[in-house]
Amino acid sequence: MKKWEENIRQVTPYVPGEQPQEENIIKLNTNENPYPPTRKAVEAYLTTDFTKLGLYPDPTASELVGALEKYYGLEEGQVTVGAGSDDVLSLSFLTFFNSDKPILFPDVTYSFYPVWAEVYRIPYECPPLDKDFRIRPEDYKKENGGIVIANPNAPTSLGMASSEIEEILQANPDVIVIVDEAYVDFGGESMLPLLSRYENLLIVRTYSKSRSLAGMRIGFAMGSKELIQALRNVQASINSYPLTRETIRVGSAALEDEEMFQKNLKRVLHTREWAKKELEQRGFLVLDSQTNFLFARHERVSGQRLFEKLRDRGIYVRHFNGERIREYLRITVGTKEQMERLVSTLDELL
Ligand SMILES: *Cc1c(COP(=O)(O)O)cnc(C)c1O
Repeated sequence: MKKWEENIRQVTPYVPGEQPQEENIIKLNTNENPYPPTRKAVEAYLTTDFTKLGLYPDPTASELVGALEKYYGLEEGQVTVGAGSDDVLSLSFLTFFNSDKPILFPDVTYSFYPVWAEVYRIPYECPPLDKDFRIRPEDYKKENGGIVIANPNAPTSLGMASSEIEEILQANPDVIVIVDEAYVDFGGESMLPLLSRYENLLIVRTYSKSRSLAGMRIGFAMGSKELIQALRNVQASINSYPLTRETIRVGSAALEDEEMFQKNLKRVLHTREWAKKELEQRGFLVLDSQTNFLFARHERVSGQRLFEKLRDRGIYVRHFNGERIREYLRITVGTKEQMERLVSTLDELL
């Protein structure tokens, strides 16, 4: 081993779902939205003033931050933005989890959490979900250095009632509790109404799933002014200009087209319930999703085998090799046509 190798920070990176380059792939593996972004968002992108691209963007993205504060009925100073919610979450781990005590998150959840804990050297513990893949609030009532909960959870697709998360907040006034609401627009219960009562609550959201803008990279955090200021200070100490000029414009404009946004959401929810029934008729156990994906296991065929067979036929879903979930597939809800292709392909395979 070379001497300098000792100085390298060793990490096992998070592995996102594949982004295949071939045409004609049905891509149901990274929970993207199958519908295009709203008209106003596209218009904002197309009318970006390219003569200004030589200038740095607004470091605080105040146009977007202001639009989000207004949209969610918050006060000035309660929102900060980042390059996707992965950026916001990662910086939140760095900002808020500085105790020697372990932070807590479930054993089955967004697999980026243990990666950030490792890279920032944050000790962590993972209380197991119960046998039905539910988060038990009582597991989060022991001493800890902070808590992060995805609600609805991924990859299980299950949501918790906000009263259950409030139970966790009540038991943890001395640490920061992060609620990752990446999927909440698809039918979960948001913690937003509780924000004014808990100064130690940070809600993180993304434009990547419900707003059809994964390629734009926009995420944001909502919380008390104190939490947001602390997060902004760390953000500004690492990257002064996390969002590009056109990203800031598109992010703001996307909030102005509520009708089209709601229409796209409804289509996803409708297709989700249709696909769930179709899968159940074909021998799948499908959890009750509050997200834009289904978490499902077949009664006979193994998760790995189904994943490979579907992939051979150009349908990409996500398969995780974790001990408790390796028989399951995480299937993004695509368009009705894509889901029909999935179902007819399964008919050939099963
Ligand atoms: C997709 C996802 C994110 C990250 O989304 P970005 O594209 O980085 O905004 C964060 N948390 C969960 C639970 C997710 O599924």
